[in-house]
Amino acid sequence: MGLILYNTLSGEKEVFKPIVKGEVGLYTCGPTVYHYAHIGNLRSYIFEDVLKRVLLLNEFKVKHVMNITDVGHLTSDSDEGEDKMLKGARREKKTVWEIAVFYTKAFQDDLKKLNILNPNKWAKATDHIKEQISMIRVLEKKGFTYTAGGNVYFDTSKLKDYGKLANLNFESQARVAKDKNKKNEHDFVLWFTKSKFDSQEMKWDSPFGMGYPGWHLECSAMATKYLGKHFDIHCGGIDHIPVHHTNEIAQSEAAFGKKWVNYWMHNEFLILNKGEKMAKSGDNFLTLSVLEEKGFSPLVYRYFCLGTSYRNPLMYSEEALVSSGNALRKLHDKILEIKSTGGKVSKKYFTEFRTAVSDDLNTPKGLAVMWEVFGSDLNDKDKYATILNFDYVLGLGLKGLKKEKIPAEVVKLAKERLKARMDKDWSRSDTLRESIRALGWDIGDTKDGYDLRKC
Ligand code: AMP
Ligand code: ZN
Repeated sequence: MGLILYNTLSGEKEVFKPIVKGEVGLYTCGPTVYHYAHIGNLRSYIFEDVLKRVLLLNEFKVKHVMNITDVGHLTSDSDEGEDKMLKGARREKKTVWEIAVFYTKAFQDDLKKLNILNPNKWAKATDHIKEQISMIRVLEKKGFTYTAGGNVYFDTSKLKDYGKLANLNFESQARVAKDKNKKNEHDFVLWFTKSKFDSQEMKWDSPFGMGYPGWHLECSAMATKYLGKHFDIHCGGIDHIPVHHTNEIAQSEAAFGKKWVNYWMHNEFLILNKGEKMAKSGDNFLTLSVLEEKGFSPLVYRYFCLGTSYRNPLMYSEEALVSSGNALRKLHDKILEIKSTGGKVSKKYFTEFRTAVSDDLNTPKGLAVMWEVFGSDLNDKDKYATILNFDYVLGLGLKGLKKEKIPAEVVKLAKERLKARMDKDWSRSDTLRESIRALGWDIGDTKDGYDLRKC
């Protein structure tokens, strides 16, 4: 059996066929670096990491490009609202350039903590202004643009299959765009010269005037530069389907006159208990560091995400994270129990695992196969070798696990905390947990007392 992936474009699961045998060009939409990524955003990057690892498992050579949006993204995806970077700069009384550097680093640190493999190429929008201008020039020559109110727009009425990714139903859309310069509701900005914001710091000279690119353009220009005018897979969260990815397709296919990307893949949202999506503008904006402060390691969050298919909404709750934490803890204990050298990967279980994750990244089933191996009649050495092999896809850090010696000071604090809990002195118990954390250890509660792990 080959690799099967759900393609948003066809609305079906398809057998994956690369353009060039044995190779895959993969583009994943990266963050707008005006704030920390929230754990919903990070669900997207975990899904894309699993996809990449499954492609590698299926012996494809993967060329992965991820962008960093540091210019042009307004608070609404369809050219309305404030400039996100300016908003971040104002909030923190820094320049947009400082904001970009700070949050790019914070994002990359988060990915590292989540065991997410680095892309082959990080592509920053502000490093590719020339390529974006060239693309507008091509669109201009082909008659897909118009200028109004100082901005250059893409004319969606010129493309016969505009909106095919999202099956946009034009009948049910509002006829009049909020931006009065637009000829059609779905038209979008390729180049802003009339900045709505006097303090716009990021501006470049161009044939269309001093200004900056619209958000969608960077992904088309940079993906094409590094992966070519026709490549294999493009990913993002489902919110990108109706606007961002629809517009990327429109401008790229208009410019190149042919199909741009073969497979479009999208993850569902991380949602909160009332069914709302986690968003940076909401009150419940959780970052990886907040989870860490609550005592959940980044890999607990990764395990939590792997437990649900990327195509289903995932409901966040602390209780669910506690169970993922317990499962991961149990997994680590079992791995340490059977850790050995010289084992062989079981063909039977490897095939089961590969079949599961190659069926549209069915990680819940992949995890189930992993747990089945522990209970199987394989010897411990072979169990260890087999599960370690699965971890190339799961990325739960099983290879480097080692038993840690707990310092006496940490044990002393842990005992004091146990006593505080028995006395129902929760505030002292919390303070002691913090002191233990400060020494680099996480403490959890068990039936018989406590459990200590290195953070
Ligand atoms: P942004 O930085 O807003 O461009 O978002 C980065 C990625 O996170 C995009 O692929 C979004 O589609 C995705 N995303 C945003 N919110 C959520 C959420 N609540 N759950 C899962 N993915 C999300
Ligand atoms: Zn993009």
